[in-house]
Amino acid sequence: MVSGKLAARLAMLLLAASIRAAHAEPASCPGNPHALGVSRIIEVDPTGGPRFGTFQYKTTLELQPNEIVLTFDDGPSPKTTLRVLDALDQHCVKATFFEVGRWAEAFPEVTKAVADRGHTLASHSYSHPRNLGRLPLEQAEQDIDRGFTALKEASGDRVAPFFRYPGLNDSDALNAYLGSRNVAIVSCDIGTDDWLRIGAAQIVKRTLARLERQGKGIILFHETEPATARALPMLLDELKKRGYRLVHMVPKAQGVAALKPPGATPPPTSQ
Ligand SMILES: [Zn+2]
Repeated sequence: MVSGKLAARLAMLLLAASIRAAHAEPASCPGNPHALGVSRIIEVDPTGGPRFGTFQYKTTLELQPNEIVLTFDDGPSPKTTLRVLDALDQHCVKATFFEVGRWAEAFPEVTKAVADRGHTLASHSYSHPRNLGRLPLEQAEQDIDRGFTALKEASGDRVAPFFRYPGLNDSDALNAYLGSRNVAIVSCDIGTDDWLRIGAAQIVKRTLARLERQGKGIILFHETEPATARALPMLLDELKKRGYRLVHMVPKAQGVAALKPPGATPPPTSQ
């Protein structure tokens, strides 16, 4: 009989096998000699729907001590996303943006800017229901599919097969659905509380305190919060000073086509 511990270890080994890490060239960052930069790239194979993030799963990205991944939810926002992108550019770092399909339809140029500037664009559903897992299954699946389609159209098919649940509210049935579509499920390791409207200084303080405790991880921000945009320059400076290294999470294969298993029927369109 396989013990729970052994099963967890096997799962970790399988996960490790599904990830191929590549070292990025150390790039100079124009105008900022103290830039954080990207220290390496992790290429994620979404086959079978692997799950990442100790906030709610047993598995996460294979990060070394002091390695961090930045992620941003809920955009695109015409008010704040470009400020977030500028702050990231100032440090020549790349992040992953989990955007909402209906906002990508409303502000496609903002979503396109995320992809144009080299970040990973991923999905956070179409309509951002409070709890996708509690919707009728078919409705929830359609919301997921429609979200990917909207992001594909806004970005010119540059959406990664990565999904983050609104409110991180998953369900076994939807995890199985995403797995069948070969979509990786990305939760987080460290929250920043930026959605609590605590102000930029508190976002910096709490994020650093949690990071010091945990030592590494996938960090969750909201690109729609003005305080997050204000916090980022301070936070990135401090991360560099404290010796953290930034990892960019990218998909093994790009594009919504990668979502569909062979012979699958296409998702319903919104026409
Ligand atoms: Zn959200």
